[in-house]
Amino acid sequence: MRDIDVFMKLLALERPWTVDGVNFESNETRITISLRHRTNARFCCPDCGTIGSLYDHIPSRRWRHLDHGSWMTWLQARVPRVSCRTHGIRQVRLPWAVPGSRFSLPFEQHAVDTLLEADVTGAARLLRISWDEAWGIMERAVERGLQRKKRRIIPRLGVDEKAVAKGHRYFTLVSDLDRGTVEYIADDRKKASLDAYYASLTPEQLEGIQAIAMDMWEPFISSTWQNVDAAWGKIVFDRFHIMQHMTKAVDEVRKAEHRRLSEEGDGTLKGSKYLWLYSEENLPEAYAEWFERLKALNLKSGRAWAIKESLRNLWHYRRKGWAKRFWKEWYFWATHSRLRSVIKVARMLESHLSNVLTYCDHQITNAASEGLNSKIQAVKKTLMVTGILNT
Ligand SMILES: [Zn+2]
Repeated sequence: MRDIDVFMKLLALERPWTVDGVNFESNETRITISLRHRTNARFCCPDCGTIGSLYDHIPSRRWRHLDHGSWMTWLQARVPRVSCRTHGIRQVRLPWAVPGSRFSLPFEQHAVDTLLEADVTGAARLLRISWDEAWGIMERAVERGLQRKKRRIIPRLGVDEKAVAKGHRYFTLVSDLDRGTVEYIADDRKKASLDAYYASLTPEQLEGIQAIAMDMWEPFISSTWQNVDAAWGKIVFDRFHIMQHMTKAVDEVRKAEHRRLSEEGDGTLKGSKYLWLYSEENLPEAYAEWFERLKALNLKSGRAWAIKESLRNLWHYRRKGWAKRFWKEWYFWATHSRLRSVIKVARMLESHLSNVLTYCDHQITNAASEGLNSKIQAVKKTLMVTGILNT
């Protein structure tokens, strides 16, 4: 079989397209497959499907295609343009790629499969494409899924920011808290990232929003204030995020205390970092005795930990009045603790208190979507939910 026949078979091209030539560039381990259409071919307008007359070709373009072994493979063709009476001069639709994509459809599908199994950075490395290209493929896949989705009202939303590429980059994730599905994904975590989600909703969908769980993240807050009616009663600062702030404060107290003790030659806190990060019921049995001993020592770390653990009671109240009363006591304790990190978090919470206590009205948390807790899972779920996994 000649090269051309092999690739004709592999590509399964439809008429009028055919393989014109195959070029093996050995020093680059690259294969370029040139495609062409029959000279007498007729093409349709991409907008209305009417057969138009061939107008011209745009200069040769390339699409990354599936590798053959270690050989990176590219398709290359001159794209015809038709002249339509209604729509004017238009580029025709190609059977191997979606408009605007730099990748063939089989490559894009393979990339989505890879993204489901790895994070964006890992997938980009495996696919030998850039991070931005991997991200672009994922975004397009999600968008295709969303287009297939019916417009329904989502009463309880979760808005999350997720770090990718080791925290150098963020994205915004909007989920349906009742269904546990990811509804929207946007690059970055700016106000505009969330604005774009609200802008995609119909007035009915916007009106149907009853509650939104989110982190105390200014851009998300202002976007919601601007786009959602009566947002002040609907935003609930997420319990999970609040406890994360507190846990971080405990860790800072422990770190400073350990440093101070070590300078005096006291190794009491050595190796204890993770003990303080557990919540009480999750502490592994094996550490229980050690932790009890540390707690009995009247350490600053112990005090910070107790204050953090106590705060969890706030979410046990169903009545706002009771929650508020608890808060006042806790706030007094925390702000008189002489622990700088703890006081800082307490003050931040106090200034956002009304939207912490809205929990009593709505009882929502992002915990479910945080439980995934990895960008891989988030991406996977998004793709699954939006139907990409089934295509
Ligand atoms: Zn047309």
